[in-house]
Amino acid sequence: MDFKLTERDEMLQKTIREFAEKEIPPRMDTMEETGEFPMDLLKGLADMGILGVITPREYGGAGLGHLARILVLEQLGRVCPAMPMALQVHHMCTYALNTFGSEEQKKKYLPPLAQGEALGVVAVTEPSGGSDVAATKSTGRLEGDKYILNGRKCFITNAHVSNTWIVPVMTGEGRKGMSAFIVEKDFPGAKTGHIEDKVGLRGANTGELVFQDCEVPKENLIGGEGNGMAVALGTIGSCGRPGMASVGLGILNAVIEEAVKFATERELYGKPISNLQAIQWYITEIYSDLEIARLLAYRAGWMLDNNIPADAAATLAKQWICEAAARSARKAIEIHGSYGILKEYPIQRLMRDALVAVPAGGTAEIAKLVLSRIAIKQYQ
Ligand SMILES: Cc1cc2nc3c(=O)[nH]c(=O)nc-3n(C[C@H](O)[C@H](O)[C@H](O)COP(=O)(O)OP(=O)(O)OC[C@H]3O[C@@H](n4cnc5c(N)ncnc54)[C@H](O)[C@@H]3O)c2cc1C
Repeated sequence: MDFKLTERDEMLQKTIREFAEKEIPPRMDTMEETGEFPMDLLKGLADMGILGVITPREYGGAGLGHLARILVLEQLGRVCPAMPMALQVHHMCTYALNTFGSEEQKKKYLPPLAQGEALGVVAVTEPSGGSDVAATKSTGRLEGDKYILNGRKCFITNAHVSNTWIVPVMTGEGRKGMSAFIVEKDFPGAKTGHIEDKVGLRGANTGELVFQDCEVPKENLIGGEGNGMAVALGTIGSCGRPGMASVGLGILNAVIEEAVKFATERELYGKPISNLQAIQWYITEIYSDLEIARLLAYRAGWMLDNNIPADAAATLAKQWICEAAARSARKAIEIHGSYGILKEYPIQRLMRDALVAVPAGGTAEIAKLVLSRIAIKQYQ
């Protein structure tokens, strides 16, 4: 077991950190006010290999793998957690295409997604409930050489700033009745709907996708008819959960920095409050959350890169880290006293970001359900 990052990965971390510190802060107030992703950064993100980090080089990506993806998202999230939120869903789209797509589909869709022509989407959640994927109501029916899609997807990251959508709908009955499609935003009948006005992760656009007799060419079926559930759950499991773990990890990086900054600058009784034992305990607890989070997230990425089944590791990382981010942000707010609730201090934003990260990509309760099944099977 080797806990040392390679030189390449250390260099990647450093480069992304510098990029994030230079490019993101000037845009953050606007992101916070408008709830919009900074699309002017797309080309820069593409040039640095961030958009195509897990896309193989033969399809225009950087082909750096899952651990590298986590390192990149962590560094972006340290500066602004909305960035990895948006980018991790974009990566899910590239993952789905690369894992389940045909050669023609990969050649057509992966290069523009790696090169920053637009962002991608995986749209599973419907108003009928994100936890119950089997309750999907959107439908697709084959008519000649096209599928006609009808329905509505909600809470979709990048909905209004993307052009390539992976959309599972019902083409039949039951678990094997779901099929996934690659939908381009300009296909007839494909529309964006409501934009959600979220309390956190505001710079990641979230909204509805609407399909009204949407015409999708037959060749845009991905993964074969009846395999939509596998496309959706496979992508969430191997890409969405590690991605959300990285969002939480980015938040924890920022939380410890804000907590330590405030604790060492704020003086009471003639000394910085970092001398107070209660504050030291908070800092130790936040530090522990960050260190454990990093181990969990990196392990999941490393396992995926080494083709080791990572369902449990990725689920644990997602659930544990996002909850750790929320509880640590709360503790950092306590350290700030009343300053913690002032908008001029970033810690209140990090608390809001963490709260939004907990249900995004699957709630903690569902993750615990998955983990309990794994644990019972393993230790029975
Ligand atoms: C910022 C953000 C970005 C998102 N991006 C995307 C995206 O890009 N694509 C996408 O498809 N979706 C996306 N989502 C949707 C997200 O995955 C869902 O919101 C999530 O899965 C929960 O679904 P729900 O909100 O419908 O809650 P529900 O499924 O209605 O759940 C409500 C409550 O019931 C609990 N619950 C449900 N079932 C069980 C059970 N069996 N046992 C115990 N408790 C249970 C839940 O944990 C929760 O507490 C995003 C959400 C957010 C907040």
